[in-house]
Amino acid sequence: MLEIKNLSCKVKDHEKIILSDFNLKINSGEVHAIMGPNGAGKSTLSKIMMGHYNYDVLEGNIYFNDEDITNLDTSKRARLGIFLAMQDPTVISGVSNSEFLREAMQEIKGEKVNLYQFITQMNSNISDLHLSSDMIHRSINEGFSGGEKKKNEVLQLKMLKPKFIILDELDSGLDVDSLKIVCSNINEYLKENPDTAVLIITHYPRILEYIQPNYVHVLNNGKIVQTGDFSLAKEIEKKGYQGINVLGKIDENE
Ligand code: ADP
Ligand code: MG
Repeated sequence: MLEIKNLSCKVKDHEKIILSDFNLKINSGEVHAIMGPNGAGKSTLSKIMMGHYNYDVLEGNIYFNDEDITNLDTSKRARLGIFLAMQDPTVISGVSNSEFLREAMQEIKGEKVNLYQFITQMNSNISDLHLSSDMIHRSINEGFSGGEKKKNEVLQLKMLKPKFIILDELDSGLDVDSLKIVCSNINEYLKENPDTAVLIITHYPRILEYIQPNYVHVLNNGKIVQTGDFSLAKEIEKKGYQGINVLGKIDENE
């Protein structure tokens, strides 16, 4: 479903190359996790996949269902079914959550979304996520707690029904109970839409206990330096990135 080949990228107007010769392949129905120390390039990867304007691809390609999307606009990527739950969700004053979501659904579907159906669906998803019903009328993420912002990202996911989901540190800002709620919503979605692929970016194995990954990758210095299964995440928790010696390995290769 998604293939990244030999990708190198940097932040616009900065010299520093953040991902270099990065490769990743994710098939439909698979859950992949990317872990890595602070500043490894995880959020940059998620933004590059979504076509963020502030990041430049220097080399390599991103394919989605065999289509080269390397230079595609963010909106077109969203229409193809790619979704990013951001590490730091943006506050947009003056645009209500419900206006935004209905508009986004219409843009993605390319047709009008019936208001009654929209409200019914929204209310049911809000209740599934244990969110307060007034949040749909509030400006996007304005005054939301950290946890509410993250739940709001998952509300968008449930409404927009993506085929490929990127979760950038969804677990940060969520308390234990909220994390369970959010993950059970995502698992429900994956059960109903088994072809969906997921990329979970995280520091902690806890989220991976709820949404079980098929593969766990370690990112360092803009490259995947090790791939394993869930046990790799547990090992990282126990020993740290230094302890599993993957960060050392990359130096040896260079
Ligand atoms: P991670 O999510 O793995 O913690 P990031 O992808 O956010 O790491 O950042 C990787 C590196 O790129 C860091 O050194 C960070 O400071 C730098 N970086 C990312 N975005 C920007 C930006 N907009 N301007 C300058 N540096 C950036
Ligand atoms: Mg990050």
